Amino acid sequence: MAKGTGRSRHASRAGARLFAVYAGASLLPVAVLALVLVNNERGAGLARALAQGRAQAAVIQQMAIAPAVGRADLDRGISAGEQAALQRATNLAVYSGSLTELRLRDFDGRIVFADDGSATDPLPNSDPAFRSAANGRVSAAVVPDPRDPRQNTIRVLQPIVPDVNGQATGVLELYLPYAPIASLVQAETRRTYLLLAVGLVALYLATAGISWSVTRRLTRFAERQAHNARHDSLTKLPNRAAFRDDVRKVLAQPGRRGAVVLMDLNRFKEVNDTLGHHAGDQLLRIVADRLQDGLRTDDVVARLGGDEFGVLLADLDEVDAIHALLDGLQHALREDVDIEGTLLTVEGSFGVVRFPDDGHDLSQLLIRADIAMYHGKRGAERIVFWDKTMRSTATRSHELHSELQRALDHDELVMHYQPKLDLASGRIVSVEALVRWQHPSRGLLFPGEFIPAAEASTLINPLTDWVVQRALADLCLWRRHGLPWTVAVNISAYNLTAPGFAESVIAMVHRASADPADLILEVTETAAVTNDDVALAALRTLADAGIDVSLDDFGTGATGLLELRKFPVRELKIDRVFVADLLDNVGDRSVVQAIVELAHRIGCRVVAEGVEGKEVAEWLRAVGCDLAQGYYFHRPAPWTELLPSRPKTAPATRVRPHVAARRSTDSPLPSVLGEVTPS
Ligand code: C2E
Ligand code: CA
Ligand code: CA
Repeated sequence: MAKGTGRSRHASRAGARLFAVYAGASLLPVAVLALVLVNNERGAGLARALAQGRAQAAVIQQMAIAPAVGRADLDRGISAGEQAALQRATNLAVYSGSLTELRLRDFDGRIVFADDGSATDPLPNSDPAFRSAANGRVSAAVVPDPRDPRQNTIRVLQPIVPDVNGQATGVLELYLPYAPIASLVQAETRRTYLLLAVGLVALYLATAGISWSVTRRLTRFAERQAHNARHDSLTKLPNRAAFRDDVRKVLAQPGRRGAVVLMDLNRFKEVNDTLGHHAGDQLLRIVADRLQDGLRTDDVVARLGGDEFGVLLADLDEVDAIHALLDGLQHALREDVDIEGTLLTVEGSFGVVRFPDDGHDLSQLLIRADIAMYHGKRGAERIVFWDKTMRSTATRSHELHSELQRALDHDELVMHYQPKLDLASGRIVSVEALVRWQHPSRGLLFPGEFIPAAEASTLINPLTDWVVQRALADLCLWRRHGLPWTVAVNISAYNLTAPGFAESVIAMVHRASADPADLILEVTETAAVTNDDVALAALRTLADAGIDVSLDDFGTGATGLLELRKFPVRELKIDRVFVADLLDNVGDRSVVQAIVELAHRIGCRVVAEGVEGKEVAEWLRAVGCDLAQGYYFHRPAPWTELLPSRPKTAPATRVRPHVAARRSTDSPLPSVLGEVTPS
C-alpha cells in the first residue's frame, strides 16, 4: 500500500514537472509573438503620426496658402499683396500652434516666402524630399527641428495646387509641432498595447490550461500504469511480481517465520473449454474473492497467472494451524458457483513450504511449493506440505518442458494469425502470429499454457526461431496470393538477452528472401524498456536492419511516457484492458487518447488490441488511432481463413467481422457484429 502511494506521489511530482515544462515552453512563443506585435505597433504609431501631419498640411495648403497666392506661378516671385495675405495667414497658424515654420519655394528651390522673413535655408534643392515634392508627390518625415535640434518636428513637403485644374505652382514646406501629434498617437498606442497584453495573457492562459489538462491526463495514466504493474487486471489481486516482492521482504526480516502456499485450481481448463473464457474469468474472480475472505487480514494473496494463486502466511508456521486454515479455504472454494446458469464446484491443490525450516531463498521456496502442489495434483491429498523426499523433477513445468521439446521436434506447433486493420481504410495491413500447440492428448493449447514453461527454460529460443521462420514462410505464401500484409511476431524478454538473437532474426529474413520491413517484432513494455545492454543492443540492431519493434501490452507496465523516446520503437499496442470497456469508462478513454497523442508526438503508430465491438472501433478511429485488432474484426485463425472471400487478386482485403465457426479457429466464435464502415 505504502508503495502504491509512493509511486503515485512520484507520478504527480513528475506531472507537476511536466506541466512546468509545458507552461514554460508555451511562454516562449507567446513572448516572441508579443515582441513582434509591439515592434509592428511602433512602426504603425509613426506611420499614424506622419499621416496626421500630411492631413494637417493638406488643410493648411487648401485653406490658407492657396487662397493667399492664387494661381500665380512662384517662379516669378509674389506680389506685396500676396506677401501680406500669406503673412496674415501664417501668423495666425503659428500663433495658434498648428505650425512652427512655413516656406514657399519655386520649383528650383528658391525661397519665395518664409514665415519669419529669414533667408537662411535648411533644405538644399537637391534634397530628395524636395525633388519629390517638386514632382508632385507629398513627403512627410519626422526630423530634428531646424530651430531647436533637441526637439522633433514633422516636416511635410508638398506641391501647392491652388485650384481644381491640379496644376502645381510651387512647393510648400511646412513644419508641424510633433509633440501634440505624438501624444495623441501615444495614447492610441497605449490603448493598443493594453488590448494586446490582455489578448496575449488570455492566449497564454488558454495554452497553459490545455497543458494542464494534458498533464493531468498523463499523470493519471502514469498512476494507473504504476498500479497495473503490480496488480492483476482480472481479479485486482497483487500479481506475481508484487507477490515475489512481498515474500522477499518478509524473508529479509530476521527471525520471521511463516509459510508460502501455491494453489492451482483443479480442472479449470475444462471450464474454459466448455463454457468459454468469459466463464473462466468469472470463476477466477469468485475464487479470488473466496480466498481473500478466508484469509487473515495480514495474509497476502496474489494471482500468479492462469489459475494459479500464491498465499503468504506470515508468522504462521505450525503445520496443524496451516492445515486448518487451508482446509477452511478449500471448504469455501468447494461451495457451488453459478456461472451463467451452470452450477460448478471448484477445488484447489495446495502446495505448502514453511520458512525458514524448508528454505529461506525466495526462488527455492517457490519451486518447493510448486513441487508439493504438483504432488497433490497427482495424489489424493489436496493440501501437501513439501518434504525433502519429494522428487524435484516432478513439477508441472518439468513435465511441460519435456513435452514441449517433443512438440518442437514433432512439429506439433501451429500458427494462427490475427489481422491488424488500418482504421481509416478498413483494410488488413498486417497480421499477428499467435502460436498454438496441437497437443496429442490435451487438444489445442493456447500460449498462456506453455509459453511460461518455455520461458522458464531455454526452450523459448528454439520456439521463437520456429515461430519466426514459420511466419516468414507463411508470409511468402500469402504474398503469392497478392496480399500485402506484413507479419508481427511476439518476442519474449528472454530472446532479447540471448546472444546473437538479432543477427539470427536478420539472417532468417534474408534466407526467406523477405524484406525486413515485412517483419514486426512485438516486445512487451517491460522487455523493451530495459537497462539491459544486451537487450538494448539487440533492439537497436533489429531497428537498424529495418525491422520494426512494436511495444506490446502498452499501459500495463510503468514506463515513463517521455522515456520511450530513448528506445527504437515504431509502434505502440494499447493493452486490451484499456480498450475492452472504454465506452463505459471515461478513465480508459482518456488513457487511450493520451497514448494516441503521445505516440504520434514521438513518431509511433498506435494499435488498439482487444476491439470487440463496432462502437469501440469507431471511437478509436475518431481519436486518430491508426490500427486495431480484436475479435470484432477477426479471431486468430490459420492464414488461409483470412483470405478475402472474393477472387484473391485484389491488392488488399476489406475485412468483415469473421463469422465462420470452424474447428481450426480459436473458439468460441463471435456472432456477426456488423461491419466497420470505411471512411
Ligand atoms: P498478446 O500478444 O497480447 O496477443 C493477443 C492475445 O489477445 C491473443 O491471445 C489473442 O487471441 C487475444 N485477443 C485478440 N483479440 C481479442 C479480443 O478482441 N478480446 C480478447 N479478450 N482477446 C483478444 P493468445 O493467442 O492466447 O495469446 C496470448 C499471449 O501469448 C499473447 O498475448 C502473447 O503475449 C503470447 N504469445 C502468443 N504467441 C506467441 C509466440 O509465438 N511467442 C511468444 N513469445 N509469445 C506468444
Ligand atoms: Ca502481441
Ligand atoms: Ca498484446
